This record gives sequence, structure tokens and C-alpha cells, in this order.
Amino acid sequence: MKEDFYEILGVGKSASAAEIKKAYRKKAIEYHPDKNPGDSKAEERFKKAAEAYEVLSDPDKRAKYDRFGHAAFEGGGYGGGGMNMEDIFSQFGDIFGSAFGGGFGGFGGFGGGQRRLKGSNLRIRVSLDLEEVALGVEKKVKVKRKVQAPGVTYKTCSTCHGSGQVTKITNTILGRMQTATTCNSCSGAGQVIDSKPSEADALGLVLHEETVSIKIPAGVESGMQLKVSGKGNEAPGNGIPGDLLVAIETIEHPTLKREGDNLHYDLYISMPDAVLGTSKEIDTVGGKVRIKLEQGIQSGKILRLRNKGIQSINGYGTGDLLVHVNVWTPRELNKEQREFFERMQEDEKFEPKPEKSDKSFFEKVKDMFT
Ligand SMILES: [Zn+2]
Repeated sequence: MKEDFYEILGVGKSASAAEIKKAYRKKAIEYHPDKNPGDSKAEERFKKAAEAYEVLSDPDKRAKYDRFGHAAFEGGGYGGGGMNMEDIFSQFGDIFGSAFGGGFGGFGGFGGGQRRLKGSNLRIRVSLDLEEVALGVEKKVKVKRKVQAPGVTYKTCSTCHGSGQVTKITNTILGRMQTATTCNSCSGAGQVIDSKPSEADALGLVLHEETVSIKIPAGVESGMQLKVSGKGNEAPGNGIPGDLLVAIETIEHPTLKREGDNLHYDLYISMPDAVLGTSKEIDTVGGKVRIKLEQGIQSGKILRLRNKGIQSINGYGTGDLLVHVNVWTPRELNKEQREFFERMQEDEKFEPKPEKSDKSFFEKVKDMFT
């Protein structure tokens, strides 16, 4: 059982963004690895607090978490689950300013020594049609990312001798103060370029087009973001690559409308079809399906095709396809047809006699949500 994010941070469910930030700051300082060297329990608490903050500090993620709990972040890989130390430290820019790293590209690793540079994240947009959303899909996308140039070599920085930090002595009214700051020559990486091919940039990187395969789970929605770890820009030297952030965009289907995990389809049938019964082809995410309509079907009837909707992103089954039956009334009639319907105005078979099963529209809507 995963611990509740609010409990981890020690705040109430109605805590404001400022309260959450403050609570996280306190926890992060208390359990910071620099303060608790070798204490794996503190590290665990530190990671948990970061994970909780990652979700609760983002209004969208927080709303999802409030609704679905931890299940909201399973399988999707966006936020929540499995933060590593690099992710956590990259959050710190917002929280602590430059108190713990930050600066050029965002450093990872533990304080007090050489820091590993992290490459910047790349962002792309992926458009999915309804079929892809319903069933999940693996997309191959071309990404231009910066990678270490072939033949580039790095050597230990001579300014900081590989430590990534330089010690400065400053005279203040309180006396001489010694402060460690990030080395300017290597931006804290502890390494600088030894030799590089001419096409490489100042960090020894070149643009390289690559095909990246992105596994998109079923049930995603427009506006969601997935992360492909390590497929962003590479960092120089022994740095670690950034991530590829994938923004999901969905394309509207011409006939199927999504509502949560359910789909809706408007079916129009003629009066004779409604009276005599028929079968009709309708769209589903798995292709066309023929459905039978009983004779005497009423306009407004909703037929439920179980499990023909969208697979739930939380793994709670699959939604349904709801077919709304609409009987089309002709606007123009020829003489013979008009005479027929005039006769039928007097016929008691054409008198509306709604039964219990012919529920009103409002009752049907109520049923759909219960
Ligand atoms: Zn240096």
C-alpha cells in the first residue's frame, strides 16, 4: 500500500499551494542526503517527499490524485512513480533557488563534490486518433537531439581539478569567509573538452536525428504528458541525458464522442425502420459493427455495447459504447403518404402509450451515471 501524499508531507487535503511548498521544503531539508550521509531511511523519506510534492504541486496532477489516488499515475509514467535523484534535484530550482545546485542546465547528484551535468529536456507533441487512444499504441517519432559528437574527448578540468567547485575567500565585516562555488570553467562538471570535431558546439555536442519509440498506454487524454527517460539532449562528459517529454494531443473522431471511458454514437433511423425493425452498421473503435434494432424501437432509446469504449488508463476495465437512437421524421410527403398518415392520426396503434421500459430522457441519463 502506497503512503498517502498528503500524509507524507504532513498537510491536510485542503492545503494551499503555499502550504504544500512550505511543508515540502521542511521535509527536504530534514531528509536531505547531505545532512544524512549513508542513512538509507532518510533517503527514502527524501524521495517520497519529492514524489508527493511533484504531484501535489501540480494542479492537474493533484486533481487526478484526489480523484483516483495513486492509481492515477500507474502505467502512464508521467509524474509520480519512480523519481530518481536527478528529477528531485531538478525540482529544487523552484523551491530553494540556488541553495542546492541549480544553475547551468540543472545539476544532479549530491552536493559537496563533482556534479553530473544533466542534458536539457526535449518536448514533442504527439497526435493520436480515437482508435489509438482506445487501444494504446506504440509511436515512432523522429527526434533531433544533441548527442556527444563522434570523436569528442573530455579531460579533467584544470581550474577545479575535477571537483566541480572552487573555494573563494572573501573578506566580510564578520571576518574572512570561505565559500565553495561552482567552477566557472567547467560549469561544475569537473570535466572540459579536450578535443572535438569542428562541427561540435562548445559542449562537444552535435544535433543528431533519431527515431524514438514511445509506448502510449490506452486511455490517455489531450493535455497529458509522458516522459521517455534519457531521450532528451545529452550532456557533455560523464553527464546524463535529459528526458523527452511527450505532450498528448487527441484528434476528434467524426462520429464517436468520448466522455470519460465511454463513447457515444448518434444513430439516425427512418420511421419505417423504427416501425418494422432493421439492422444498422455503426462505427466503433475496432471498426464497423452491425447492430440489430427491434421492431417498434423508440426514438431516444440508448443501446449499450459493453466494453466497446476506451480502456481505462487506471486499468479499471473498459468503457461502453452508447448508441443513441434517433427516429428521423420526414418533412415532406407525397399525396399517398400524406393520406396514409392522416388516416393513422385516428388509429389507436399510433397513439403514444409509453411503458415503464420506455423511460424518459432524464431517467435514462440518470441510469447512465448509476
Ligand atoms: Zn572546473
